[in-house]
Amino acid sequence: MKKEDCLFCKIANGEIPSTTIYENNDFRVFFDIAPASKGHALIVPKQHYNDIFDMDAETGGRLFSLATAVARALKKELKCEGMNIVQNNGLIAGQTVFHFHLHLIPRYTGDTVNIVWQPGEADQNELQALAKAVRKDL
Ligand code: 5GP
Ligand code: ZN
Repeated sequence: MKKEDCLFCKIANGEIPSTTIYENNDFRVFFDIAPASKGHALIVPKQHYNDIFDMDAETGGRLFSLATAVARALKKELKCEGMNIVQNNGLIAGQTVFHFHLHLIPRYTGDTVNIVWQPGEADQNELQALAKAVRKDL
């Protein structure tokens, strides 16, 4: 399904132009308009999903399968040293476009990309209980 007034529905389906690297029936891969680094690309499904919570596992599987190929191709052409794969879900997580997209951000020595968090502390009992709780929902 497409969503009215969704920027990435329009880009994914070619109604708004983008610098497209690749497309097939289900996905479009294009360069981010405001790249974090040279070659910053997005993989976007042509169907509308708000975020990962909204996406079926089969689509997610095919999307990540495509991501492995795109990551290798970007690395080959850009000769980047590494890559961050980032995917934001929800305002709190930094999502600004509410149509699922996977970021592929090539990394180079001396770049200004900043993807960090402060390492926290974990309580083993709490983690065990949480693992059990989550497992029952899988
Ligand atoms: P988010 O913050 O939602 O994870 O990422 C949204 C991304 O979409 C940002 O990196 C932003 O630069 C990119 N973006 C927003 N509008 C456009 C657009 O019109 N064209 C392209 N190619 N990228 C866009
Ligand atoms: Zn959409």
